[in-house]
Amino acid sequence: MQNLLFGSNFFAAMYLVATVLFIFGLKGLSSPKTALRGNAFSMMGMAIAVGVTLLNPEVRSYTWIVAGLAAGAVVGVTVALKIQMTAMPQLVAALHSFVGLSAVLVAAGTYYTHGAAGGEADAVLMTEIAAGSFIGALTFTGSLIAFAKLQELMGSAPLVFRGQHWLNLALGLAMLAFGGHFIATHSMVSFWIMTGIAFLLGFLLVLPIGGADMPVVVSMLNSYSGWAAAATGFTLSNNLLITTGALVGSSGAILSYIMCKAMNRSFISVILGGFGVEASAAAAAGPGKAIKSASAEDVAFMLGNSSKVIIVPGYGMAVAQAQHAIKEVFEILHEKGVECKFAIHPVAGRMPGHMNVLLAESDIPYDVVFEMDEINGDFSSTDVVLVIGANDVVNPAAKTDKTSPLYGMPILDCYKAKQIFVSKRSMKPGYAGVDNALFYYDNCTLVFGDAKVTCEKLAGALREE
Ligand code: NDP
Repeated sequence: MQNLLFGSNFFAAMYLVATVLFIFGLKGLSSPKTALRGNAFSMMGMAIAVGVTLLNPEVRSYTWIVAGLAAGAVVGVTVALKIQMTAMPQLVAALHSFVGLSAVLVAAGTYYTHGAAGGEADAVLMTEIAAGSFIGALTFTGSLIAFAKLQELMGSAPLVFRGQHWLNLALGLAMLAFGGHFIATHSMVSFWIMTGIAFLLGFLLVLPIGGADMPVVVSMLNSYSGWAAAATGFTLSNNLLITTGALVGSSGAILSYIMCKAMNRSFISVILGGFGVEASAAAAAGPGKAIKSASAEDVAFMLGNSSKVIIVPGYGMAVAQAQHAIKEVFEILHEKGVECKFAIHPVAGRMPGHMNVLLAESDIPYDVVFEMDEINGDFSSTDVVLVIGANDVVNPAAKTDKTSPLYGMPILDCYKAKQIFVSKRSMKPGYAGVDNALFYYDNCTLVFGDAKVTCEKLAGALREE
């Protein structure tokens, strides 16, 4: 009866449905307008995937599955309820590390069941075990370093030493050699040496990446975690895990490519952990350089008397949760007939799309929100640029200072506007850890204080005008 109802065609068909829903989910997530629908599709896909897998006659006991689900649900719900929006990137990095570690554990488990001395595993299965283990190990330790950097448990500065690339190359070759030996001989020692080297490489590849380049690393680790899951799918002969892993792996790779292009970095260098290494302690806070500061009321006066305004949100907007107050400023300016647009840098905030999500949360219309390439030409004809908690993404040192870790990264060309106001709390640098040349430009004025408080004051002063 069970076989009639739930034969292999049933599972294949349901897995296909789940895969199609995941593809619709990814498509939906490509725009803020359709993101909710995309998430709903993905959740349906996941419900079908989990439900159908549980019906599989190969499942012999539900005890461990239920125990795992319960423990995971407790941790998941607790984390989801407690996590701050600003801490999402490090949560994502931590989750990638779990995927990596589970790929290693599944590979090791499969090896001990089918591949260890006298086991029936053929070369294909042994290759899958090797691939799952080393991709998973790399993902695990790489994600731990990414987590530590994003959580600011360690400095965001690149950690470099002489001969780093040669060491990585030697380790990479040794890992492949031990992997080959493992596949040929089923040797347990080779398996663990290969996996140990991969753990070490994960650390070494992410340590040299400086703060400004972290977005590419996070998306790259996202991609690795997908490939680790796909390798696990091969090991477990689970087609859905293969297709889902491949979807995550390839969408992560595409995102990394887009990020690399946006930041003018080489894709190959990212994979090899080789960029950011020329970073110096460049542009330490500019002693002796003069900055100007103004009150929110002064800024409101200038805004109210402009005809073109661009607002540039950054990570500080997320920290201050200033998006609703910014919406109010936007609405008042709109009512006053001032043309007001938003400019989003591809790596503003701490995760791809971070700023778009926050602006969408406060119902700012999509048609006034522009990506960097669309709006960069507008700055030179803009009266006032209001920078809310953005720093690295508007730093002109990226264009002018070859010693800066930001050098080469395209920025929002705020400095070309007639007047720039920057809302921040102090003279502290942005995530890349370097001083911002913009603050010393003649047309730039700082407005010190929490971004939400500043925007509320701006809205109040604009209403009174
Ligand atoms: P930055 O991190 O460069 O700067 C944030 C600014 O916000 C700081 O100058 C800080 O100054 C200010 N700030 C913080 N809290 C507040 C507050 N409550 N009120 C007002 N200001 C505040 O942000 P950007 O968005 O410009 O750049 C993003 C950086 O993060 C880039 O280097 C990017 O590469 C990196 N990154 C991006 C990821 C992504 O996927 N988008 C992922 C990982 C890293 P102060 O403390 O003085 O207030």
